[in-house]
Amino acid sequence: MHNRPTRREVLGAASAGLVASQVARPASTDKLALLGGSPVRRTPFPSWPVIADNEERAWMEVLRNGKWNRLDGNHAREFEEIWARTLGAKYCLATANGTSALFTSLNALGIGPGDEVIVPPYTFVATVNAVLLQHALPIFVDTDPETSQIDAGKIEAAITYRTRCILPVHLGGSPADLDTILEIGRKHKIPVLEDACQAHLAEWRHRKVSTLGALGCFSFQASKNLNSGEGGAILTNDDELYRACQSFHNNGRGKSGSGFAYMRNGANLRMTEFQATLLIEQLKRVEEQSRTREQNAAYLTKQFSEIPGIRPARMYSGATRNAYHLYMFRYDKEHFAGLERGQFLKAMNAEGIHCSGGYTPLNKEPFLKHTFDSRAYRAIYEAKQLLEWTERNHCAANDKLCEEAVWFTQTMLLGPREDMDQIVEAVRKIRRQAGALRAS
Ligand SMILES: *Cc1c(COP(=O)(O)O)cnc(C)c1O
Repeated sequence: MHNRPTRREVLGAASAGLVASQVARPASTDKLALLGGSPVRRTPFPSWPVIADNEERAWMEVLRNGKWNRLDGNHAREFEEIWARTLGAKYCLATANGTSALFTSLNALGIGPGDEVIVPPYTFVATVNAVLLQHALPIFVDTDPETSQIDAGKIEAAITYRTRCILPVHLGGSPADLDTILEIGRKHKIPVLEDACQAHLAEWRHRKVSTLGALGCFSFQASKNLNSGEGGAILTNDDELYRACQSFHNNGRGKSGSGFAYMRNGANLRMTEFQATLLIEQLKRVEEQSRTREQNAAYLTKQFSEIPGIRPARMYSGATRNAYHLYMFRYDKEHFAGLERGQFLKAMNAEGIHCSGGYTPLNKEPFLKHTFDSRAYRAIYEAKQLLEWTERNHCAANDKLCEEAVWFTQTMLLGPREDMDQIVEAVRKIRRQAGALRAS
């Protein structure tokens, strides 16, 4: 009975064969999956979120105790304490989601109609929507194509007497150039609000991002590196800003949190106890997952450095830790026989390596023009100012980046080293066959 190979032995032999075939791949197996060949990878990448017994127990405990609201329970408070301690901030305020964390922060800073807020065009739309919710004017500053972050060297030229906030994003989990941005903020006395919604545990000079500006915001939406389906948080070291955020997110109520004493206007943007209990459990894995992503990303970057036409997003020298919510690189078709990026993406996906082309230019979105045409915006801003906005709003480097970018999501970095080898092999295979694909 020992002659019969176990399932494990069969799988082991199959994967050993796979590795061997990668070393010396005969031309016949090099056919692209898009052209009918066999794909480099047939198995899915790690699934997300990671769920285990601890999540199930924690969730059931909240369900059964009936304290589902943070005014009754203590899980949201506990999560806030852990996350503030983990990041090294004085205060953490949990919110319903990342958009409401940004919205609350802008309210605490008193940003409103007539104010200008400096934002990057290379970000998720929520960054800009939070500004529009305040009837403020988003001013786009071009992207540094080497890093995919806001080009900090171009911020100062965008500042006017109306500028009330600088809102950089640590896109993909890679820190924006905080030395330059914070210095500009100090010089012009303009608060910096960090959108760290993709940057859990990322660091600038060994300090966690979100704690360096006046305020920092996180998202715990389902795709993010720390996930409770929906969720958010604000970090700050400032007593007054914390109190303003705390009150605003709880319908402007006073310190006790319940009752009918009002400090200010506000909204209900509170996190539920269910979200908080999931976060407390998911937090137990976040450090290890983050390290796995870093190791895999470093390996990928090293491999990609040997492939002409693949240029991974660079990090600033002050960035001491990248959260790798995204693995981003630029694709140069000149090194792929002129093969368009769209075709490259299709070919990669056919090989079993999921990737996307990332964002489109946010500053050119028609919905911005529609918003500025609204009765509210026309009441607040002079036609001349809105016209000037159009003239100021050019982000040529960002336009180009949007045409060249390729992204992998964070979950693809959570598996073993062999997954990275398959990603690299798919890119190499497409490069070898780019001419054949173009001619097909
Ligand atoms: C996810 C995200 C947000 C918004 O967070 P939600 O929790 O989805 O509201 C804001 N900014 C950036 C950069 C994001 O990636």
